[in-house]
Amino acid sequence: MAQLSDDCFAFGGPMMSVDEAVGLITTRVNAIADLETVALVDADGRVLARNVAAPLPLPPFTNSAVDGYAVRNADLPDRAEQALPLDGRIQAGGLAQAPIKPGHTARIFTGAPMPPGAEAVFMQEDVRIDVSGRIVLPPGLKPGANVRPAGEDIPEGHIVLRAGQRLLPQHVALAAAFGLTQLEMIRRIRVAVFSTGDELASPGEPRAASQLFDSNRFMLMAMLRRLGCEVSDLGILRDERTSLANGLKQVAGRHDLILTTGGVSTGEEDHVKAAVESVGSLVLWRMAIKPGRPVAMGIIDGTPLIGLPGNPVASFVTFVHVVRPTVLALAGALPEPLLPIPVRAAFTYKKKAGRREYVRVFLRKGQDGGLEVTKFPREGAGLLSSLVETSGLVELGESITGVEPGQSVGFLSYASLI
Ligand code: AMP
Ligand code: MG
Repeated sequence: MAQLSDDCFAFGGPMMSVDEAVGLITTRVNAIADLETVALVDADGRVLARNVAAPLPLPPFTNSAVDGYAVRNADLPDRAEQALPLDGRIQAGGLAQAPIKPGHTARIFTGAPMPPGAEAVFMQEDVRIDVSGRIVLPPGLKPGANVRPAGEDIPEGHIVLRAGQRLLPQHVALAAAFGLTQLEMIRRIRVAVFSTGDELASPGEPRAASQLFDSNRFMLMAMLRRLGCEVSDLGILRDERTSLANGLKQVAGRHDLILTTGGVSTGEEDHVKAAVESVGSLVLWRMAIKPGRPVAMGIIDGTPLIGLPGNPVASFVTFVHVVRPTVLALAGALPEPLLPIPVRAAFTYKKKAGRREYVRVFLRKGQDGGLEVTKFPREGAGLLSSLVETSGLVELGESITGVEPGQSVGFLSYASLI
């Protein structure tokens, strides 16, 4: 398990910027050290433990990029067409029996190894066959044309899969292209997830008139799984300090991270702070972010705890900025900074300087074909519909005080966040 010191989340300032939060997490959270061997078919989304050097060049041998006719560079027609007799036929998976004879051409197919001596390939569409069966080649083809030299993609020994890489399907393809069947990975991190609140009922259980169904826990578990975590669903803890404390204490030490939602404001019925303090240590991060509220950061028996706010949108946004970098750091993954893409605003918005705001927006193609975003019409941090009916978040930096239609703004699609 990750062992962190009690004061690792302490922060001096009254308000923390998003960048300070991410910086603090990435410098103070250590990656877990347990490794495991994972079959290639299960490698997608996992974090690579070590660099992988190419055990062979890619492509492994020089081959034709097209279906056509291979020749020596010396036989490329310069000014006028030239008819060459056919010498050999090499299909993908085959091998030329002999070097190509000077003044000859060989029939070749995409992916087939070049016959020794052949250096360029005419596309079959560019040649014709004369009455005597010779191949008539046009002038002007460049030496080496339509050939894929061995190692042109990746030279042998080159490191293209790096420790800390969270594998995407294309990384899995690369490992397969090297002939690897298994990879050394960092084990999945284990996250315990609790909701807190007397007003919550679990889907499938009876709901009292004063209760609502717990939605955050399912959102957070889904986001964690997308980040490659193993998740323990620990249900709902009641708004009562002792049972909260007991619930948290039980899972500490057996998980790499404890995640809670709700109960971290400073009202009398927000008991997470007191509960954590009774079994571990806790600081409240007041982040200069909207939507968002204080985020609780704590340590229980060396296990980090993050307490997110209860309002679903605040929970979502603080997950992205606090939980996501923490999970990546614990999982040994390289940082994956969020890079907003510039799009045109089609809305007006007023904002306070000094904090970062995330506006829920819908992405569409404008009349001139350019991408533009419209704002969800309402702002409440409790509106789940606002996350469902939009495509992502516009990030408005600390210095921005408003948005006018036509202005360029940075857009983060939901797909890019997890
Ligand atoms: P809290 O942060 O506990 O003060 O909760 C703020 C608001 O979020 C309240 O209206 C809660 O009912 C709501 N809320 C808290 N937890 C959840 C949850 N797990 N699912 C849905 N709504 C929640
Ligand atoms: Mg509550």
